Amino acid sequence: MVSRFDLDAGGLAGLLPDEPPYRVRQLRHGLLQGREPGELTDLPKPLRARLAEMHELQPGLRLVHEAAADGGDTVKWLWEVASAGSGAPPRVETVLMHYPGRTTVCVSSQAGCAMACSFCATGQLGFERHLTTGEIVEQVVRASSTAAAGGRRLGNVVFMGMGEPLANLDRVWQAVHVLHDDLGISARHLTISTVGVVPGIDRLAAADLPVNLAVSLHAATDDLRDELVPLGKRYPLGELVEACARYVQTTRRRLSFEWALIAGTNDTPQQAAALAPIARELRAHVNLIPLNPTPGYPATGSSPAAVRAFRDRLVQLGVNATIRRNRGTDIDAACGQLRASMAASPVQISRR
Ligand code: SAH
Repeated sequence: MVSRFDLDAGGLAGLLPDEPPYRVRQLRHGLLQGREPGELTDLPKPLRARLAEMHELQPGLRLVHEAAADGGDTVKWLWEVASAGSGAPPRVETVLMHYPGRTTVCVSSQAGCAMACSFCATGQLGFERHLTTGEIVEQVVRASSTAAAGGRRLGNVVFMGMGEPLANLDRVWQAVHVLHDDLGISARHLTISTVGVVPGIDRLAAADLPVNLAVSLHAATDDLRDELVPLGKRYPLGELVEACARYVQTTRRRLSFEWALIAGTNDTPQQAAALAPIARELRAHVNLIPLNPTPGYPATGSSPAAVRAFRDRLVQLGVNATIRRNRGTDIDAACGQLRASMAASPVQISRR
């Protein structure tokens, strides 16, 4: 599985042994701007025609569905990627979000996910395959082109789409380097979100770019966390919190905790009381978001009043906590949900 962004400069040079290095640079630059090989008019026409035919330079993502919501401020894509074996091609999602003053893309790192978090639509699917570096980069390039066409500059990338980025860290890290080195996105505008893969957190702490780390905590006691996040049995909260502390100490980056509020489950005063000392100790920011209901998990998100009450309790306990708006709920813009609702559908464009 090789697509146009899987080849680095050396790989592209290998494809074009007869071309001078500046041609290879022009090609790479053009592709990263979101242009098709056949449209690179700074290259000679015969070369363009040759490039357009090369299978290594084909896109890795095929559009299945595009949907816009929030008056165009949220755009979500469902893509098909090459299948690993004989099965149907897996599908992955990308979401572009415009906020006042900033534009963020949420990318997938795997097709499916092996982490099996009970409330997560992707977790309910199971694992299909790792995305390649090129497939990850292409999500950002496509989103960036869309943003630019609307007069916005894409400045932030969050690895909060489908998959567990720290279970695919080699490819994710190569993609991080392309985004940073070639697309000029600074490390402080790159965020990797993990369910709590402790060895991966330690690898990130030792890595050569200080990206932001978000940890999907969702519960502050092991009994409840193990129900929501099966990986908790392998890496209990004590070990996870220690890894977070090492990360913060080594990188000096801010840590955030993600907390999807589930009515009557993790929105209780007991959970707030258990979370507060952990968050204070790590100076972590807590992002609260009401659970988006998924087909395989019979629970509802906390009511707006319960969300505010949980936030207020954390703030009273000295924690930095904010409520995040659900983005694109009407287009299923939550982890794995567009894909779940679009099972086996043809290409469609919807605007709401
Ligand atoms: N595997 C990584 C990144 C992908 S999930 C991780 O777990 O962090 C991105 C975020 O969406 C995580 O915080 C995840 O817990 C959350 N999420 C998944 N399903 C959700 C749902 N149904 N409602 C709200 N948040 C959800």
